[in-house]
Amino acid sequence: MQGKIVKGISGFYYVHVVESGIYECKAKGIFRQQKMKPLVGDDVEIDIISEEKKTGNVAAILPRKNALIRPAVANVDQALLIFAAASPNPNFNLLDRFLVMMGRQDVPVILCFNKCDLITEEQQQEIAAIYEASGCKILFVSAKKELGLKELQEILEGKTTTVAGPSGVGKSSLINLLAPEACMETGEISKKIERGRHTTRHAELIQLKGDGYIMDTPGFSSLYLPEMEKEELQDCYPEFAAFEPYCRFQGCSHINEPDCGVKEALSEGKIHPVRYENYCQLYGELKDRKKY
Ligand code: GDP
Ligand code: ZN
Repeated sequence: MQGKIVKGISGFYYVHVVESGIYECKAKGIFRQQKMKPLVGDDVEIDIISEEKKTGNVAAILPRKNALIRPAVANVDQALLIFAAASPNPNFNLLDRFLVMMGRQDVPVILCFNKCDLITEEQQQEIAAIYEASGCKILFVSAKKELGLKELQEILEGKTTTVAGPSGVGKSSLINLLAPEACMETGEISKKIERGRHTTRHAELIQLKGDGYIMDTPGFSSLYLPEMEKEELQDCYPEFAAFEPYCRFQGCSHINEPDCGVKEALSEGKIHPVRYENYCQLYGELKDRKKY
């Protein structure tokens, strides 16, 4: 039977089979045969030991589409990054760090600003303007007023999505709306969501109301940049690319060089200053890191 690992705790893997529910499995022979450790998110073949007790054995790990390091999860289609549009105000520097982290792992990001009930249409446009050329989908929702949820559900449908965001932005409120049945089915998950940020949590996939899974990623206050060269940072700022041909120097870092197309675009308002400032700050950080 085929299923998906939704949770792994001390040698046990919990495998969700769409037609028949969750099986508690061991993964005895896997390490020897495939030389890989099963990950949450893995699609696996299981042998049922007891249908009654819902136990089985993971017989094979199916080919992975990808495997993220942070969080450790396989077959991720996309990342949903949740910030509050206000209260607390979004931290764009933290947001960009997350985009770099996901960009380096080739995971597309959906930027979801919750609590849109607290801001005006105009403020919404100001936030959207920062990221409109970043390549991310941008979404404004309100868990409280239940706004924008249908669009969010459509984006998540049929996909495995890792969900991240700082605390206080309404992440739990949104997850509860998106996956209420999953919470009721497994008391453990809803308890976990209630306890919220006060506990360390295992990586775990939560079934959505519809088809698809989300993975709540705990811990998100300061993000270290991944291992990378400072020259690679501009790949995470796709809106710079169109202006690079106008830089005088090849390999221009767009920071101190004269006749820089990116800086010119910035002065003409074609690149958003928030993005450019973050770029400079992160670039400096990568540069300093290399000295050690
Ligand atoms: P988490 O820490 O990100 O999981 O956030 P919670 O879901 O616990 O919500 C934090 C606070 O924000 C709570 O007081 C919620 O009632 C409030 N909140 C959540 N969503 C919204 C929203 O859409 N609008 C407003 N105004 N408040 C919200
Ligand atoms: Zn330049």
